[in-house]
Amino acid sequence: MINSITHHPSDETLASHAAGTLDEARRLIVAMHVARCPSCKQGVSQFEAVGGALLETAPVVSLKPRALENALRMIAEERAAFETASEDDPLGSYSLGPWRWVGPGVHRRSVSLPEIDGIKVFMLKAAPGTRLPHHKHLGYEWTYVLEGAFEHELGRYGPGDFDEADETMEHKPTVCDGPPCICIVALRGGIALQSRLGRILQPLVKL
Ligand SMILES: [Zn+2]
Repeated sequence: MINSITHHPSDETLASHAAGTLDEARRLIVAMHVARCPSCKQGVSQFEAVGGALLETAPVVSLKPRALENALRMIAEERAAFETASEDDPLGSYSLGPWRWVGPGVHRRSVSLPEIDGIKVFMLKAAPGTRLPHHKHLGYEWTYVLEGAFEHELGRYGPGDFDEADETMEHKPTVCDGPPCICIVALRGGIALQSRLGRILQPLVKL
């Protein structure tokens, strides 16, 4: 348990997580936070309870033959996949690639999630003082901090913190003093770097 957590997923995100409607990439990032955050863990259980109650009162609709069977099979498969990713160690069922240099002070390693729909999941390690290029999101960028800290316009993000950015946000993160900052990131739609240097570097960092 980490007591210094200050940035949590929104209620909407926790509800989607509880309902199982997030894609695998975002589910992983949220699960990493929830595993370390007692209040979000409790929030997710409450949303699950509400979801269960709603299902029980849902009107009966006529289904195509085999629809129920198919739905139950899909639920069982989902559950099996979810349970393999243990609640306390959501990363445990994935393998991590070697750290690779992507730019001054910045390394990146792959996380073995299939790249579906242009969604990428990877870990970033950045040295203290690193300023990541000013960028705008074209889709979403969800980040969970494992070690170290970074800060941007919305505050300081340390171990256990969750950062949810979408296309309405522009970011200019800087890594804080201390140990290198290690994050796991789910990125959809890429990012647009705002400076000329950034645009030149973009193919190099392959973000
Ligand atoms: Zn939380």
